[in-house]
Amino acid sequence: MYPGDGGDAEALARNAATAMRHAKEQRTSAFRFFDDRMETRALERLKFEFRLRRALEKGEFEVHYQPQVDIASRALTGAEALIRWNDPELGPISPAIFIPTAESSGLIVAIGQWVLREVCRQIVTWKAAGHAVPRIAVNLSFLQFRRPDFLESVTAILTESCVSGDQLEFELTESVVMHDAEQAITILTQLRALGIELAIDDFGTGYSSLDRLKRMPIQTLKIDRSFISDVTRNADDAAIVSAILSMAHSLNLKVVAEGVETEAQLAFLAGRRCDAAQGYLLSRPIAADRFARLLRDRDARRIAAAD
Ligand code: C2E
Ligand code: MG
Ligand code: MG
Repeated sequence: MYPGDGGDAEALARNAATAMRHAKEQRTSAFRFFDDRMETRALERLKFEFRLRRALEKGEFEVHYQPQVDIASRALTGAEALIRWNDPELGPISPAIFIPTAESSGLIVAIGQWVLREVCRQIVTWKAAGHAVPRIAVNLSFLQFRRPDFLESVTAILTESCVSGDQLEFELTESVVMHDAEQAITILTQLRALGIELAIDDFGTGYSSLDRLKRMPIQTLKIDRSFISDVTRNADDAAIVSAILSMAHSLNLKVVAEGVETEAQLAFLAGRRCDAAQGYLLSRPIAADRFARLLRDRDARRIAAAD
């Protein structure tokens, strides 16, 4: 609107384009009036993207590992690789905050490749130190998964780092595998052929067609933390978790409970034959050297048991 949103035709057109971009970001049809905060936000997003790009170039990312534990024996069965970012000025930034920006800017593809390469490098280092390394789970974004060269890039990283697929698991959310299920099945089948195991992450928060779930070549469901946090207090959550467990087991899938924080939650899960658990009760995500100590202790117990 002249003159509030711009003093000449050029400024008006530019601001109208900004408003239109915002309207287009809504999933449903929408209209937006220009607001000068839109420019500040766009600028901030750009600055943040710039920092992310620089972080990748300067090696400011790190991978931490959160142990997964077999509920019946409490033995370590695997770990989930989780990216960490320590910005020199802003300090540690949660992936829950920067992954969405990495996705909207497309940077997630390069970041995801970096994570996979780093995990493979770490596996090789641990093995060289003589540890028996369990399967390591890596999170995948829908943008990585849907790229035409995705399989090629996974194969290339495995080959160049000399890691075999059976050292890895990929975590994907429901929406990623349920959208265009036929194509997803093709890609997942090829990943399985490499020996990589497949898990559905945050299960229960998206939507899954049970018919499609049955046809997916997946091995594991990870029950989302939101169901676990109140499982001992809320009858609905308890019913949902029990239902997921019996459905998963009848489809021959393993189940990992995410976000286990109390002994009571673990006991509930044990009572319903949940296979594995991950959460602060057992361990927070830890740096690679601390995880190596865990592996060393496990190896020591193994040797002691064999004697
Ligand atoms: P996620 O894959 O569901 O990972 C589990 C998240 O729950 C992690 O948060 C972990 O630190 C947190 N968590 C684990 N146990 C507990 C618990 O007992 N209590 C509570 N309150 N939280 C717990 P984090 O590391 O902040 O990661 C958040 C999300 O960011 C991940 O959720 C995943 O979706 C994404 N992410 C992390 N690393 C990567 C990555 O390398 N690539 C991609 N594409 N996404 C990643
Ligand atoms: Mg995950
Ligand atoms: Mg999860």
